[in-house]
Amino acid sequence: MPCKYVFITGGVLSGLGKGVTTASIGLILKSMGLNVTAIKIDPYVNVDAGTMNPYMHGEVYVTDDGGEVDLDIGHYERFLGTNLYKRNNITTGKIYLRVIENERKGAYLGQTVQIIPHITDEIKEEIRSIGRDQGADVVLVEIGGTVGDIEGLPFLESARQLRLEEGVKNTAFIHVVLVPKLGTTGELKTKPAQHSVQELRRIGIQPDIIVARSSEVLTTEARRKLALFSNVPYNAIFSNYDVEYVYEVPIILNGQELPKILSEMLNLNTSNGSCDLTQWIEFINNLKSYDKVVRIALIGKYTSLKDSYLSITEALRHSSARLRVKVDFKWVEATDVERGIVRPEDVINDISGAVVLPGFGGRGAEGKIKLIRELRENNVPTLGICYGLQLMVVEFARNVLGLREAHTTEVNPDTPHPVVDLLTSQEGVIYKGGTMRLGSKPIKIAKNTKAYEIYEHEVIYERHRHRYQINPEYVNSFGSEGFIVSGYSDEGFPEIMEFKNHRFYLGIQAHPEFKSRPLAPAPLFLEFLKNSLNSG
Ligand code: GLN
Repeated sequence: MPCKYVFITGGVLSGLGKGVTTASIGLILKSMGLNVTAIKIDPYVNVDAGTMNPYMHGEVYVTDDGGEVDLDIGHYERFLGTNLYKRNNITTGKIYLRVIENERKGAYLGQTVQIIPHITDEIKEEIRSIGRDQGADVVLVEIGGTVGDIEGLPFLESARQLRLEEGVKNTAFIHVVLVPKLGTTGELKTKPAQHSVQELRRIGIQPDIIVARSSEVLTTEARRKLALFSNVPYNAIFSNYDVEYVYEVPIILNGQELPKILSEMLNLNTSNGSCDLTQWIEFINNLKSYDKVVRIALIGKYTSLKDSYLSITEALRHSSARLRVKVDFKWVEATDVERGIVRPEDVINDISGAVVLPGFGGRGAEGKIKLIRELRENNVPTLGICYGLQLMVVEFARNVLGLREAHTTEVNPDTPHPVVDLLTSQEGVIYKGGTMRLGSKPIKIAKNTKAYEIYEHEVIYERHRHRYQINPEYVNSFGSEGFIVSGYSDEGFPEIMEFKNHRFYLGIQAHPEFKSRPLAPAPLFLEFLKNSLNSG
């Protein structure tokens, strides 16, 4: 079977959950026995997501190979249950950088280098070679943004060309649109969707399938209208209505016979489009059937945009399904504590556990440190991730070791007690893009520790994204007070620390949330939640 390419575009507005739709289609195709990979195209000029504030695009997801990528790659990995690569996230920046470098090398000698064909050729070649290198039967290509954006045009043009070159039976276009409900009449309005299909057709793309996002199930009437005006068969209009958990979307699309339609459209060599989602359904049932609610505080400084910490909330959900409990998130904005708007003692009185979230820079740090002290002194199960661990160390140095001015040099470069300091490998690094310590790295786990109980291995691999490290010079002082190192990096700095005289007080330099999957929750999150459950 030749490789198939499925393009997913978006219309009306952004933030429709195109990533989840793409990931869901991926899971369906995979459950039909196909080898699937997924590409996210981000039409912005940044080379990668690493230099962007999470306030704008949500969390920066990290792949095994150290890519700082769009959070949709996280959806793909979680739904597909596979590990993807940094190249699965294509950006305008990456493509132009490559073409310009080639031009300087003389690759196009004598030619005028243009968007068509040079940029579009580069885009098509990258999509095809990802499919080839990853042995895919189907390559899903989600084009970020909304149809009509100037930035997205070269990518849509490449998709149009690719269909012409690969043939109708080897390509499919799925357009995800919003069908809003008018408050006054309660009517589902298809007009914005119709316009966005027209916009797509204007650039030469006729969608094969429409996925309509709406607050409730699409009425027959709305479906008919969409089919007629979009020039799409009635049974190729899918209703993707609001659900409690994103993990339900594959079930919804499967229920409307997406496997059958895709099989027919793409001539897929599978057994009549049969799709086995048994384990997935079991996972969702576990998510929904709980007899206890655990309230977990999430302490960070980008808390107004929940997507800033998406993989962490998902990791907790995966664990909650395994334990058959419901997690209730209590978002704690550290800057509110810093400014005295919220008192730390009030934060902890109705929670069973807390996660101190990753982060950067000084804003909110003192607020987090105050909260951490409260958690440590009151025996509240606490999990610190990356910056979370680093600030747990600062708090301990100040309030237990009595080093009042202890700090991370990220915030105070002149501290007399640099308990968290720049990684030696970072000295002299000037460029900010893609230069942190990134991706999967081994961690050596010490026996007879909580970390060993949890991981049950002497060497584990987790993904990283940091510039600073716990200063090994202070390890003995911490250890003598019961705050021990239970995991070391290859370079010899602490990766995991745990406080013995506490119910559960553990921090990790890495990001175990990136490897958590619905059917395989990250062990550290699972153990943290178990302990929180027992403490509540
Ligand atoms: N700012 C810290 C560092 O660079 C922590 C980073 C993080 O939490 N991902 O080391």
